[in-house]
Amino acid sequence: MALLPVDTAREKILKNVKPLPAESIPLEQALHRVLTQPVKARCAQPPFNASAMDGYAVRASDLSTTPVSLEVIGTSAAGHRFKGAVRSGEAVRIFTGAPVPADTDTVIIQENVAVQSKPYISVLESSAEGRHIRPTGLDFQRGDILIPARTCLNARDIGVAAAANVANVRVRRKPVAAILSTGDELVPPGEKPRADQIISSNNFALAALITQLGAEVVNLGIVPDRLKATERAITRASDCDILITTGGASVGDHDFVKEALKNAGIRIAFWRIAMRPGKPFMYGRRKGQHVMGLPGNPVSALVCARLFLKPLIDAMLGLPPVDGLVEARLGSPLKANDIRQDYLRATLEVAPDGRRTVFPFSRQDSSMQRTMRDSQALIVRPPHAEAAKAGDTVKILVLDF
Ligand code: AMP
Ligand code: MG
Repeated sequence: MALLPVDTAREKILKNVKPLPAESIPLEQALHRVLTQPVKARCAQPPFNASAMDGYAVRASDLSTTPVSLEVIGTSAAGHRFKGAVRSGEAVRIFTGAPVPADTDTVIIQENVAVQSKPYISVLESSAEGRHIRPTGLDFQRGDILIPARTCLNARDIGVAAAANVANVRVRRKPVAAILSTGDELVPPGEKPRADQIISSNNFALAALITQLGAEVVNLGIVPDRLKATERAITRASDCDILITTGGASVGDHDFVKEALKNAGIRIAFWRIAMRPGKPFMYGRRKGQHVMGLPGNPVSALVCARLFLKPLIDAMLGLPPVDGLVEARLGSPLKANDIRQDYLRATLEVAPDGRRTVFPFSRQDSSMQRTMRDSQALIVRPPHAEAAKAGDTVKILVLDF
């Protein structure tokens, strides 16, 4: 069977994927959730003309000549407005955030006032009407659209939504992704591996990535390389939107994942991609469920997850597709490429003028997680790319996970 091009594989995965239904959640839980409806202000902010300073609320028309003596007839503090009328020749002591009394139009900062014998003050300098007053709705008016739909909410979004008296928001339901690692050699971190065992890291890396992508993780742990055990674990994930397996996807005697998926009723849409790392990637569906069989090698698993799982989760969240590719200069030469699209781990330097230079690691073995950790980018080398020299321009994917 011919190897499938990366873009074709992604297109097949994303075909007929619709955003998940919406749900209402409290604002406190909304960080990194994706809005399905715009956030509209339920109040004006500020809701009244508010003082921006500590000082005295006055009528600008009283200040035609200064210094001028005014009688302080009351106080307006934050949360405690002054309820009376203010006539010509009068002033109200006012503090930051307090409503400006109805008949006044200017706030004189206290530094520009001399306190005479109480209740009289002397305003030393004239001031323009409206000075030091935040008019009603300065920040936003009731009904204003503050955050558009399809926004992935950040701390600033949440702040303004709260200020607008929005206690609940409509967001996409989170996709639920189950992760299953396969391999007789695997033990979880914290345990003592036998001499022929290694630590399973894929579930950890993938769980972290999935969480970062805005989905919910169901960690099904590790299953041994046995058909029945693999089938049983796959069945346990049948309620999840996405099932991700790692390992057992190649052609070895112990690679049962494809068979187990088929036995569990999953239709395998394709297997094996023209990419490196990640060739054994497998994809199938069972009703609405998406199933991704990722390679066992940790770097392959993460690269496949970045290339295929991220766009799927984005589509389920209703986020627009982005290829995320940018250009960079090569810091060292590369050989001509074969039929597979390469994703080369590389360090990335960004000059003060923003120009990027990438330095590929000389060893690209897909088991080497430390180089994945030490990389800031993947250099994307299309199939049959010609040899490239230092200084040539290449496409890169900046690693943000
Ligand atoms: P497989 O696809 O099962 O042949 O696995 C390929 C390589 O990845 C083998 O060296 C496995 O030991 C390794 N591997 C598989 N699963 C994991 C895992 N969960 N964590 C770390 N390495 C793994
Ligand atoms: Mg294995």
